[in-house]
Amino acid sequence: MLKTIPVTFDIVTSLAANKLDIKVQWITSVNPVLCLSGVFVWDVEGNQFYDFLSACSSMNHGHRHPRILSALHAQTSRLTQTSRAFHNSLLGLYEEYICTLFGYDKVLPTNTGTEGGETACKLARSWAYRVKAVPKYQAKIIFAHGNFWGRTMSAFSCSSDVSSTEDFGPYTPGLELIPYNHVPTLERALQDPHTAAFMVEPIQGDGGVVVPDPGYLTQVRHLCDKYNVLWIADEVQTGLGRTGLRLAVDHEKVRPDILILGKSLSGGVYPVSAVLCDDHISSTIRVGQYGSTFGGNPVACRVAMEALQVLEEEKLAENAARMGRLLRDGLSKLPKDVVREVRGKGLLQGLVVTQTKDWDAWKVCLRLRDNGLLAKNTSHGSVIRLAPPLTIKEHQMQECVDIIQRTIMSF
Ligand SMILES: *Cc1c(COP(=O)(O)O)cnc(C)c1O
Repeated sequence: MLKTIPVTFDIVTSLAANKLDIKVQWITSVNPVLCLSGVFVWDVEGNQFYDFLSACSSMNHGHRHPRILSALHAQTSRLTQTSRAFHNSLLGLYEEYICTLFGYDKVLPTNTGTEGGETACKLARSWAYRVKAVPKYQAKIIFAHGNFWGRTMSAFSCSSDVSSTEDFGPYTPGLELIPYNHVPTLERALQDPHTAAFMVEPIQGDGGVVVPDPGYLTQVRHLCDKYNVLWIADEVQTGLGRTGLRLAVDHEKVRPDILILGKSLSGGVYPVSAVLCDDHISSTIRVGQYGSTFGGNPVACRVAMEALQVLEEEKLAENAARMGRLLRDGLSKLPKDVVREVRGKGLLQGLVVTQTKDWDAWKVCLRLRDNGLLAKNTSHGSVIRLAPPLTIKEHQMQECVDIIQRTIMSF
C-alpha cells in the first residue's frame, strides 16, 4: 500500500536514468514534519517512498537536513564564489576542521568523487618521481577488479566493466588491475619498484557491495609499508558513517596514506569532494599543478563543515551501525532460493538475488517500488544495494524490513 499525501511542486526530477521510471520530487512547503524526516521521497502523484538508494550514498544525512540547508542558505546570501587566486574566509576554517577530524596534514578541496580520484593519482605519481625515485613516467598505480571511481578517461581506463569502457580507448597507461581481496597478487604487484600506489575501496559499492575478508585492509597497509607504496582509500561511497563507523577503514583501525571523500561530504546539497594526505605527499605537488575553479569555494566549505558536524553531533555512524544490525537481522530471514546472500556493513547492504524466469534483481526492485521502497541493483546486475539515509529511525527500519520481507515472499 502506498501512502499518499498532498503535494506542492518544487523540484521535479526524474529517476529515468535509473530506469525505475518514476518521477520523484522533494517537497518544500507542505507537511514539514515529513519533509524533515529525510528518508522519504515522493513522486508527482504524491506517493511516498522510502529512499533506499540515497543517491548512491550522497544523502547520508537524509534529504533536506535542516542544519545543512540553513548553512547553504546562509552562505549563498553572503558570498558564493571567489577564485582560488584570492583567499576566502571559509576555506582555511574548513581545511583545519576536516584535517583535524580525519587526522591528516593537508586537504585538497575538489568537487566530485572522480576528480578526487584523479587528484589522488596525480599526487601518487608526483610522489613516486620526487620521493620514491621511480624513473620518469614509469610509475604504476594498481587497482582492483570491480572498482568504480567514475567515468573520466583515467577512471574508466582502469575499470574491469567492459560495457562502460569499450568505445573510449585508447586508455590511460600506467594503471593496472589485480583481483580484489587477494593478498598474494597484491604483494607481487607492490614488489614492482615502479609501483607508486594501490587505490582501493574498503568495500566495493558499485561493484556489488563486495566486502573483503577480515584482515584484508590490514594486509594492504602492511604490504604498502613494506614495499614503500602509497595506499589510496576511495571512501567516496563507504565513508562518512555509511558502514557504521566514520570511515570504513576504521573497522580495521588502519590509516590510508591518501583518503578520498565525496558524495555525502556536503549532505547531498552541493558537489563537494576532498583528498586528504600528509605533507610528505602533498608537498610533491607545486603551484600550478593542481587547481579548480570551484574547489574550496565558500558554499562548498560551509556546507561540508556543517555536514561533518551533523555527522558527528547526531552520531549518524552509530545509528547506521544499529539500524544496519536491524536490517541485517531482517534480511537473514529471507528465503534462500530468492536471496542467495546478504553482505555489507552498517547501512551499506547488498542482496544477491538469484535469477530465474520468474524473478531477478530488477523485478524485485520494481516490486519494492510498488510496495513503497526505492532501491536499485548495482552495475553488478544481481545485487540490490540497500543504503537508506543514516537518519532512519527504528520504527521506519522495522517497516522497511517488513516491506522487503513481504516483497521477497511474494515471489
Ligand atoms: C560514486 C563514486 C565515485 C565517483 O564520484 P562522483 O561524484 O560521481 O564523481 C568514486 N568512487 C566511488 C567509490 C564511488 O562510489
